[in-house]
Amino acid sequence: MSLSIEDYRRFFADEIRFVANLESPALVEAFARVPRERFIGPGPWQVGSAEVRALAAAGMGRAAYVTIDDARHLYHNVVVVLDAARDINNGQPSALAHWINGLELQAGARVYHLGAGVGYYTAIMAEVVGPGGSVVATEIDPYLSERARANLSAYANVEVQAVDGAEFDPGECDAMLINAGVTHPHPMWLDRLREGGRLVLPITVATSETLGAGLMTKIVRRPNGFSAHGLTPVGIYSCKSVRDPELEPLVRKAFTSQAFLKVQSLRREPHEQEETCLVHGKDVCFSSAPVSED
Ligand SMILES: [Zn+2]
Repeated sequence: MSLSIEDYRRFFADEIRFVANLESPALVEAFARVPRERFIGPGPWQVGSAEVRALAAAGMGRAAYVTIDDARHLYHNVVVVLDAARDINNGQPSALAHWINGLELQAGARVYHLGAGVGYYTAIMAEVVGPGGSVVATEIDPYLSERARANLSAYANVEVQAVDGAEFDPGECDAMLINAGVTHPHPMWLDRLREGGRLVLPITVATSETLGAGLMTKIVRRPNGFSAHGLTPVGIYSCKSVRDPELEPLVRKAFTSQAFLKVQSLRREPHEQEETCLVHGKDVCFSSAPVSED
């Protein structure tokens, strides 16, 4: 008896639930429902291990892919090549699922997704927030944004903007997923985060002209400031507009010394550099001091 693609999608959602520690049944359901093949386009496809690809991007070894032509095999924890020449992939499901899990999405939430790619993970989030919620997504690459817009056209609660996400105002949001490496959060993202809102973004150092490596970081707006902590290591495309050349060496030092792993808050108020400052910039400072509770 051969299993249907729906069966594969269900097993896939169960697997992602465990490997990404998903806490939200609605998020698991979204992975069981959204047809990845519809976003990636017609086969055959090249799929591969995200870890091998990340090492290859860092100059160690070569990325190796397996060619498949059965859409059921897209339902594994693999990246799918979208544009080999430009190293553009549909990202690893367990990683993206873990980051989306960090957004703590509820039905009715307003979400900002910077770097929608072909829109697969935008659709996952749109399913979780439901018809009462909404996702606004930006994609700077014209080829990808056109595909995302077509792929997501059936979702009335999704809007795709073909712009540089750093210059886009998403309005007040409950959650934001930044899918491109930055040295710091854009001030507008912090301003637009509602109280209790979650911002998940990759704080990275550049490893090449286009790529970076670092820590996926979760920032939460608390009554008395912004808490911050690391989620997972990450290798990702850079968001060139949100890379501050003055912060870059400070971030690099904080990663090299592993001090960044102690991050507990993001401070915006002016202050003298002190022992708890991990990346002490002009406008933002990643700090090991927790946000006060009162
Ligand atoms: Zn500081």
